[in-house]
Amino acid sequence: RPLPPTDDQGDWEAPTFDSGGSSAEDDDNLRVVEGIAGLIGNTPMVRIPSLSEATGCDIYAKAEFLNPGGSPKDRVALTMVETAEQTGKLIPHTECCLFEGTVGSTGISLAMIARAKGYRCHIVIPDDQAQEKYALLTRLNATVEKVRPVSIVNSNHFVNVARCRAREYSQTASSVTITSSPSESHHSHRTHVALRGHHQGYFADQFENPANFAAHFNQTGPEIYRQMRGQLDAFVAGAGTGGTLAGIARYLKPRIPQLKVVLADPTGSGLFHRIKHGVLYTPLEAEGTRRRHQVDTVVEGIGINRITRNFAKVLEPRSSNASTPAAALPWVDDAVHVTDEQAVLMARYLVSTEGLFVGSSSAVNCVAAVRTAQQLGPGHTIVTVLCDSGQRHLTKFWNDEYLQALNLPTSFPDSLAFLD
Ligand code: PMP
Repeated sequence: RPLPPTDDQGDWEAPTFDSGGSSAEDDDNLRVVEGIAGLIGNTPMVRIPSLSEATGCDIYAKAEFLNPGGSPKDRVALTMVETAEQTGKLIPHTECCLFEGTVGSTGISLAMIARAKGYRCHIVIPDDQAQEKYALLTRLNATVEKVRPVSIVNSNHFVNVARCRAREYSQTASSVTITSSPSESHHSHRTHVALRGHHQGYFADQFENPANFAAHFNQTGPEIYRQMRGQLDAFVAGAGTGGTLAGIARYLKPRIPQLKVVLADPTGSGLFHRIKHGVLYTPLEAEGTRRRHQVDTVVEGIGINRITRNFAKVLEPRSSNASTPAAALPWVDDAVHVTDEQAVLMARYLVSTEGLFVGSSSAVNCVAAVRTAQQLGPGHTIVTVLCDSGQRHLTKFWNDEYLQALNLPTSFPDSLAFLD
């Protein structure tokens, strides 16, 4: 990894470009691909100089926002669709329709892949997300159904509605009428679908679908390992479905014995307490009363109050050997709680020091990466993920009026003093 020295630019020479390059690395950089699916994955790893210098560690981030759909969910969406195709649940260029409940990123990736492969796409999404997401989804020609954010135990939760719509679509012989909840009647959609050929609704189910974990275990984890040549001390990430954290942790940990895996958890999420104290902060039974959506949080995409099948992969035992002490935390070693204020200031710090314009979950990850660096001490290497760009958050996380209304800061710090 030819990196310039951080304190002395003197003797560093830029790598020369060999137009006849024949190494595998050159081939990777100069790849020519087939269709949009070929653009998914193989994202670069970026060292973040300001965070590295401030902590005395090397802090790297996997630039997942450079996927064509703008997030690591491209990998997940493609893997879910391809797995469904392999098992005959989806047939391209038929009347098959992808259904998903999502806070945005997975919907955008699925809508993009649906266009490329010839599927319909119906996305159910809470109505409190950044406007950019709805705009992108509709421009990608997905049907967008907004619902009120409610508990997962409620049948109107976006995941439950999406599951139900998929079933209805498959069952409906000649037409299907889709109407949003009465309180959202101005957003309601009416879709008539003629029956031609294969008429199958496929509920992608990113929270429970093992293809989500598989995408990160088979792609993102190995890419990180190769990019870092196995030299990293900690991997830090938040969890929305848990697919990223679990897939990468389970690929890397057996190969890097000293690796610390750290969960980055935003305000309102129950996972921090689950990792630190062994219990979910908000037990499922209490979901109706204490819920993440009732907490005014500006972070989108990460933080949950239930153990999804994908997150559960980090709670599975490390070994079937009963004599091995059953670690309380088999695959995740620690958790860092990140406040909204810290996330906002980190995002603004990254702009003022790096010109790096990221979304809220990336900012949470970077706060937790710095905290992990501070705990490990100088000389360690930490890898985290930049999930999406700030461009997808202009009307919310990057909107000054919105932040001011929540008493959150809008300054652009040039030091990490806000983490003291
Ligand atoms: N960042 C963003 C912007 C997301 O949308 C998501 C997924 N909802 C995540 C991070 C978390 O990824 P995962 O679902 O793999 O835990």
